[in-house]
Amino acid sequence: KFKLGLSKTKSILLTDVRDLFKSEGRLIDEEFLDEMRAILIRTDMGYASAEEIVAEVAKNFRGRVVHLVDIVATWKTKLRELLAQDASPIRFAESGPTIIMVCGVNGAGKTTSIAKLAAMFKSQGKSVMLGAGDTFRAAAVEQLTIWSQRLGAEIVKGEPGSHPAAVAYRAVEQSVAQGIDVCIIDTAGRLQTQKNLMAELTKIQASIRKLVPTAPQEVLLVLDATTGQNGVSQAANFTQSVDCTGIVLAKLDGTAKGGVVVAIRQQVGLPVKYIGVGEKAEDLALFQPDEFVDALFA
Ligand code: GDP
Repeated sequence: KFKLGLSKTKSILLTDVRDLFKSEGRLIDEEFLDEMRAILIRTDMGYASAEEIVAEVAKNFRGRVVHLVDIVATWKTKLRELLAQDASPIRFAESGPTIIMVCGVNGAGKTTSIAKLAAMFKSQGKSVMLGAGDTFRAAAVEQLTIWSQRLGAEIVKGEPGSHPAAVAYRAVEQSVAQGIDVCIIDTAGRLQTQKNLMAELTKIQASIRKLVPTAPQEVLLVLDATTGQNGVSQAANFTQSVDCTGIVLAKLDGTAKGGVVVAIRQQVGLPVKYIGVGEKAEDLALFQPDEFVDALFA
């Protein structure tokens, strides 16, 4: 799954890097470092991250003739350092339902990611409740309803126009009453009313805490990997309003710029917990930094 999700990034990166080494080896000089920097930046990892890798290669190899393998080894080590996280799966509640709030702008892949998480929990034998908190988008509620039927998850929906916080409250209340294992709450993602949206997220979080003070255990921010730097800027709006605990990076399979994982990790400062690698319910993978780095060059 992981490798498939990264196949576009990998093929471009490897082709580019191999091109750097046309002959037997290459002298590591300024020209080489410039070309290498350009390749790194094309992966969308961000200038600062690219610069760190360039500096490391320069430090290790400047003035020497080296081979592809030497450079790749340095890249891998440095990428792993820049990611600076281990695999970071969902933290489950010690008792009672685990409450997961999911936020992100419309179109990022929120609904699909919720379905994927639900499918993952179901496959672990857990019962799942969905809270259709995106009450402003009838289509989102509909979509989530279809997923709930398909996956065998319960769903709480609001009356049209009801407040998302009320839906979240009821979803949590019912999860507690029914002894549900995991309750996943969708939230609205209208970008045009930034301020209201963020205020709403705060309210949802507060209404969940009224029932379960230690919840939500996770507030996941869904970002679209295909939007590159844009996703990084969006993230700041969310992290300022709610205590986000991690990122689900959707659509990683749809981009050749997989370096965006590094940029997000560096600039948003939240762990990347899961990655979306397709449109189906099973197309979700736990983000494993070591595997990620290996897959880029495998
Ligand atoms: P929402 O508006 O944030 O709820 O976004 P949706 O979940 O409806 O997703 C928007 C579109 O992106 C849909 O066509 C999804 O099928 C697609 N999508 C979501 N996640 C992924 C992913 O990981 N990979 C691919 N290729 N497509 C995805």
